[in-house]
Amino acid sequence: MNSPIKPTRSLFGSLVQWIDTDYSVEPPEVIRAMPDGVNWVRCIPFVILHAGCLGVIWTGWSWFAVWTAVALYFIRMFAVTGVFHRYFSHKTYSTSRFGQFLLALWTGTTVQRGALWWAYHHRHHHQHSDDPEDAHSPHVHGFWWAHIGWITSKRNFPTDYSKIKDLAKYPELVWLNRFDIVVPVLFATSLFLLGSYLETAAPALGTSGGQLLVWGFFISTTVLFHGTASINSFTHLWGNRRFNTTDDSRNSFILALITLGEGWHNNHHRYQSSTRNGFYWWEIDPTYYGLKLLSWTGFIWGLKPVPKSIYEEAAQNAHRDTVARFSLSSVQHEINTLRRVVPTAAAIAIATVNTPEAAAQFKKADGPAIHKDVSGPIVGDQSPASSPSAEA
Ligand SMILES: [Zn+2]
Ligand SMILES: [Zn+2]
Repeated sequence: MNSPIKPTRSLFGSLVQWIDTDYSVEPPEVIRAMPDGVNWVRCIPFVILHAGCLGVIWTGWSWFAVWTAVALYFIRMFAVTGVFHRYFSHKTYSTSRFGQFLLALWTGTTVQRGALWWAYHHRHHHQHSDDPEDAHSPHVHGFWWAHIGWITSKRNFPTDYSKIKDLAKYPELVWLNRFDIVVPVLFATSLFLLGSYLETAAPALGTSGGQLLVWGFFISTTVLFHGTASINSFTHLWGNRRFNTTDDSRNSFILALITLGEGWHNNHHRYQSSTRNGFYWWEIDPTYYGLKLLSWTGFIWGLKPVPKSIYEEAAQNAHRDTVARFSLSSVQHEINTLRRVVPTAAAIAIATVNTPEAAAQFKKADGPAIHKDVSGPIVGDQSPASSPSAEA
């Protein structure tokens, strides 16, 4: 039922949502039905995240801080791909309720909102990939909107719990999702305290509280955001398509490296339930390797494989592509040969016809018929052997 919509644009409402993301005077489905538009006040924490990187001007750098940022990038990228995506969004493996809570805490450090918000929007993407309802299709909304714009839009802020009932039944997950600022603040504070401690306990490292905050939190988290966002923007534009899916998802080796295996996006769009996105050993998928290791500890279990039928489909597609490439290339080769040979042959023919010798030959053809006698000299032959003086 449609009712007149009043967008929640009040300053107060947006400020409260910094803390309580579920605060709203309208239900999610109503906000979801609104047109896209940037909610600048709501986005201020996101702007601060990027602006915080400039803190490096004052804190400087140290190898310890830089390597902390790099390590936290990959540790948290694993949380994005292995937990937000392959657990909460697609349930490609199982864990205990307590294990699930720990996983949700871990994803909280990525500062990509709550696990339920993430899963809701990602499932929505799979349902509407590259159609007008898709919140971040580069084909529908353009590259920059797919990369970063959609996350600032007021219609994409709420979590519709009615669409993720399998997750919303756990109050601890709903609480972490609702107050999604808690874990990032604790994480940033911990980094600052660690840096402050090391400044006095291990001065040889050359770090400080401010430096670890800037490198470990602001810079690492900002790069992490853009690495994650590249899946929404680039993987529907760059790379190859193994499967003929209804969207424009693609497989990219480079993006697989940046995102620990999420670059095999066309594979994933074809079969979402598998724990692995790289379907073959040469399709590097560090997230899958990490999850496999984790399964040996008993913390997670029930990793889902790629079904035989999907591999058969992939083999058929590969064969079809090879045949098409071979056919095209052989035809193309012949076309290219003809393109080279035909004009050259035509030019030679024209040049030959126009030479004086050729003209004379044509003229002779108009005279008496030439009779070829294999036992004697050829009539009309102008060689000295056939001259009258030689016969005498
Ligand atoms: Zn996609
Ligand atoms: Zn997915």
